Amino acid sequence: MLPQEIIRRKRDGAALSAEEIRFFVRGLTDGTVGDEQAAALAMAVFFRGMTLPERVALTEAMRDSGETLRWDVDGPVLDKHSTGGVGDTVSLMLAPALAACGAYVPMISGRGLGHTGGTLDKLDSIPGYATQPDSETFRRVVGEVGAAIIGQTTALAPADRKLYAIRDVTATVESVDLITASILSKKLAAGLDALVLDVKCGSGAFMASAPEARALADSLVGVANGAGCRTAALLTDMDEPLAPVAGNALEVAEACRFLIGDEIDARLWDVTVALGAEALLLGGLAPDAEIARKRIVRAFEGGAAAERFSRMVQALGGPMDFLERFAEHLPQAAVIRDVAPETPGVVAAIDTRAVGVAVIALGGGRARTADRIDPSVGFDALAAVGAHVGPDAPLGRVHARTEAEADAAADALRAAYTLSDTAPLLRDPVLARIGPEDVA
Ligand code: URA
Repeated sequence: MLPQEIIRRKRDGAALSAEEIRFFVRGLTDGTVGDEQAAALAMAVFFRGMTLPERVALTEAMRDSGETLRWDVDGPVLDKHSTGGVGDTVSLMLAPALAACGAYVPMISGRGLGHTGGTLDKLDSIPGYATQPDSETFRRVVGEVGAAIIGQTTALAPADRKLYAIRDVTATVESVDLITASILSKKLAAGLDALVLDVKCGSGAFMASAPEARALADSLVGVANGAGCRTAALLTDMDEPLAPVAGNALEVAEACRFLIGDEIDARLWDVTVALGAEALLLGGLAPDAEIARKRIVRAFEGGAAAERFSRMVQALGGPMDFLERFAEHLPQAAVIRDVAPETPGVVAAIDTRAVGVAVIALGGGRARTADRIDPSVGFDALAAVGAHVGPDAPLGRVHARTEAEADAAADALRAAYTLSDTAPLLRDPVLARIGPEDVA
């Protein structure tokens, strides 16, 4: 087989065979297929698309390009993945909650991408927490605590790492086929029995429109189930930050408040509980949706999720009393102040992407891959859509390194908010569910 013949067939709109796809991915991994050939195939896929069997074959070939984990545990191995948003702290609470319900959660998370936050960057703000433990520690913590959230290792899905880097510089990231294979190859290499996907939709998501988000959700659910992993997706709203915070340590603090039952944001609660119930159902830990919901709610309200979170943090090197004294353990920015609106009004819309970009400008995200993040900066107490704001009710609070950076971030936050005289209709943050049966 010749790589250029495979590229030519895809260029001309043919469906590739599983054998051709496996040959190409093997070559990409061992270097016998060149980066320029992978770039050409990525562009051909971008324009011509892939059928469901092609996407399944690509995902499986990328999954099998490195180590695949196997678990010998007495419960289902579950995970949750979000396509990325702003103020999305769900993983920090959900992984321990699922563990408290009898699941094992080897959650391999990513760093922030573009304007969206990454779970790994958030965890880095916990002193001592090892986001890259050796694989023995990872296995031990998952086995003993039930959940471990760590970063991607070089051993898992190396073909994705190579292809992602090539796509990043060849304008081929935004392909539903390639995004599907990229996300799922890493998740499936972790040896999951079931997976729940949070596909974000709105101004702070990669897929801003509902039809685009729905197409991605359909593709992810179809391919994951086709590759043997029971999977469902929830389409959730990202037209405003999910939690009223954006920034790494600030989001960890929000997750801690959620876990100890202090100030639980209603939208964050709704999305977290819906995803948790779905995961329990997929994993066979509840017989129906109502019982699944009750079990996940009990894990939060009864303190079992908080207890698992504490054990996970401690087992991975963080402080023993992190959850009890998170405010003392997390880094604090030098400048913290309210951001008042120019005129009073009701929040009608939030350019959520702009909020994420403002966090990057504060130093809380990366402009270039090698940039170091300042975990302390960002926004908290963000006003939600429908909130009344004015001189005594700010848009939010900025946390910055300097007065000048706080000024610039305050201007960016004011520009991101649209105010009106009347309250908009509030909508459920869970917009739709796509189950295995919907894509069969
Ligand atoms: N996240 C991934 O892991 N891969 C993509 O292609 C896009 C988002």
